[in-house]
Amino acid sequence: MDEVHSVLLIAALSNAVKHKSVPSAGAVMGAVMGTHPEMRSKAGEIKSLLGSVLNEVSSLSPEEREIKLQSIAPDQYGALFEKKEKKKTGLPDLPGSEGGVVMRFAPNPSGPLHLGHARAAFLNDEYIRRYGGRYILRIEDTDPKRVDPEAYDMVREDIEWMGLSITETIFQSDRFSKYYDVGRELIQKGHAYVCRCDNEVFKDLKMHKAACPCRSQSPEEAMELFEQMLEGAFAEGEVGVRLRTDLDHPDPAMRDYPLFRVLTSTPHQRVDAIVYPLMNLSVAVDDHLLGMTHVIRGKDHIANTRRQEYIFRYMGWDTPVYRHYGRMGIEGVVLSTSQMRAGIRSGEYSGWDDVRLGTLRAMARRGIQPQAVRNAVLEIGIGETDIQFSWENLYAKNKEIIDSTADRFFFVPDPVKVRVTGSEPVVAKAMRYPGDESRGYREIPFHGSIFLPGAELSSGAEFLRLKDLFNIRLYHEGDCVRGEYAGDDLQEARSKKAPIIQWLPETLASACILKCAEGDINGVCEPEALAEKDRIVQFERVGFARIDTLGDPAVAYYAHR
Ligand code: GLU
Repeated sequence: MDEVHSVLLIAALSNAVKHKSVPSAGAVMGAVMGTHPEMRSKAGEIKSLLGSVLNEVSSLSPEEREIKLQSIAPDQYGALFEKKEKKKTGLPDLPGSEGGVVMRFAPNPSGPLHLGHARAAFLNDEYIRRYGGRYILRIEDTDPKRVDPEAYDMVREDIEWMGLSITETIFQSDRFSKYYDVGRELIQKGHAYVCRCDNEVFKDLKMHKAACPCRSQSPEEAMELFEQMLEGAFAEGEVGVRLRTDLDHPDPAMRDYPLFRVLTSTPHQRVDAIVYPLMNLSVAVDDHLLGMTHVIRGKDHIANTRRQEYIFRYMGWDTPVYRHYGRMGIEGVVLSTSQMRAGIRSGEYSGWDDVRLGTLRAMARRGIQPQAVRNAVLEIGIGETDIQFSWENLYAKNKEIIDSTADRFFFVPDPVKVRVTGSEPVVAKAMRYPGDESRGYREIPFHGSIFLPGAELSSGAEFLRLKDLFNIRLYHEGDCVRGEYAGDDLQEARSKKAPIIQWLPETLASACILKCAEGDINGVCEPEALAEKDRIVQFERVGFARIDTLGDPAVAYYAHR
């Protein structure tokens, strides 16, 4: 077996074993050129051998292909399975998960959910699915200043979109009495006191590891003050309940941190309260009372975990198993709720699902599937290393899901009308899905005048192939670009490296705006593509899009290439 033959055979067998079917000539060619750039000069020899190599592979059964690959290229064979093995392993096991787990997803209803939330939501969900148990959705709405009344519904909708296996939902705003009870118990046990110091004064003392005068309160005194707080005897900002931690703690943020505050300036829409628990108290209490076995949260919560561990210890509760995953940088979209809200108010963004935002609803609008987001964030996993979110990876995952069901259509961006002479009217037949006859053909009539993408005309190309039709030669007549029929030969177009471009006749060109993060693209599109709302299509040479609004013009949202 000469070298070229052996390289081709290994590439074809690897592909066949990996995808469980005989590969196309193009796939093998691509793989060989990628892994053996030195063979580019032998393209002719490769092409002439390819057919017989593919015949050889297709004459073997799947088992024979594996055996053959294993014998001639054990490393490549091994590499195929290594990857598979890695994929299957996925997330690391959690200790203490035998017999099921209780976990939670705990968003604040301050806006719709975004990619960062999706990571927490899907990671927890995956473990619930793996081990069985309860998945609690806990709406953390204890801070009226950070509650957006509309976010309750948005969070619910986003969770439905993600398809999480939530078993119960609780609202922290329904549980204030439980927080007060634990507050009383901590005070009674001497672990908390009511602090009436000015915030700045307290901060200064804390930085010097010094106790404030209130720290020496007896539990009885503290209890009385706490009850007075609850009755409304103190104004906002005047008092707070603090946990007695450790004034010598190397991290000042751990020293006597606050548990409750008085808040009267911002009413809460779900609860009538004067005293509000702060998140470390409410989170610790609920993680205990709801029986959380494992808490998976971002590294940005590590300090909170340490703070909460004091409460667990003082109350004599067992702590859950904590895992903190690394930070995830997400470029190219706006994620800050306040920035999004300001942009929506000013009219800069069309809404919470504006394509430039990193919200799940913005992704849904573009046709990104929840399963793709799930697959992408599960692949990132719960490692502690900080990472950059890869949009390319999300798009690849989405493509895996939508590609096989998305029919292909022509969308002509920035269309320019061009008269093409030299051909009788004909009807082009274009496959709805390449390689699948059963999905049928679109019929696109040619009768002289067509739309072509503006960018194609300004590129200076003189010889083009109109996809699924024929070749044309472009020429200028005054300010106008005109086309002239230049034969049917696809091979000629290929050998001239002519662009093969999408086109549309005037009679079959519906106006369509394609919404992209970079701005709107005006175009024309086959009416069939625009017949059904929510449909996901692939605009050939442009990319995948979701049909958002029917009409004239219709509106589609761009997903990715
Ligand atoms: N509500 C918190 C957040 O959305 C999560 C709390 C936690 O994981 O303990 O950041």
